[in-house]
Amino acid sequence: MLSIYRPIESSRVTQVFGANGVCTQMMDNGVFPIRPFRTTPKQGGVCPWGYKEFYPLTGMKGHNGVDRAAWVGEPIYHSANFDGIAHLETDKDGGIGVDIVSVKNVLNCTEGTCKAMHRVKKRFWHCSKVLVTEGQLVKMGDLIALAGNTGASTGVHVHDATKWCADDGGAVHRDNGYLGAFDDSAYYKDEFVRDVIQQKEKMLLPEGCPVQKGEVPLDWGQKFNKFLFWITK
Ligand SMILES: [Zn+2]
Repeated sequence: MLSIYRPIESSRVTQVFGANGVCTQMMDNGVFPIRPFRTTPKQGGVCPWGYKEFYPLTGMKGHNGVDRAAWVGEPIYHSANFDGIAHLETDKDGGIGVDIVSVKNVLNCTEGTCKAMHRVKKRFWHCSKVLVTEGQLVKMGDLIALAGNTGASTGVHVHDATKWCADDGGAVHRDNGYLGAFDDSAYYKDEFVRDVIQQKEKMLLPEGCPVQKGEVPLDWGQKFNKFLFWITK
């Protein structure tokens, strides 16, 4: 079963899945948003004069992920319980981020008439830096990127999304109103993924018996990530 944790330590969610409360300032011709984006929340349920709802302008019904408040350079960890392949991405607004595509089918698809087991990918966006390479195999809890404010963003945060995807990692069911993303709250545990991993390590390493014979509880990558986490915290 798919389990999803917080990719960063902060638990503060600033925008939920499906929200459509952001208005963006339009250019004089009333068609395209001004870049860099000038945004404002709706006032009394409507956008002020000169502004339009942001998400419908992008072809979506609303926000297609969960936004989590972060600080610049905050470590972002792969936060779902599947092994994945890293795909580095950029967007036309200057945003950078990383997709982690599950190597196996992990969830029964519920989009439209699709009922088969499906791959999913986690997307982490608006990063200041990505720390994995294209095609790298990533495990839950691995350090993958640092938080930032790149792209269509007005403050430092992590856009954390879950999308249906094909075997090649491309998003599918892109006509679902959220470009293939879905509300993952049914699979979401409100715990920081590093805390979950540390709990698991403790279970592997009982008091007074640090390493059991024949068992290697942590690989070097995880030890290194843990070290990095301590020094960047
Ligand atoms: Zn977002």
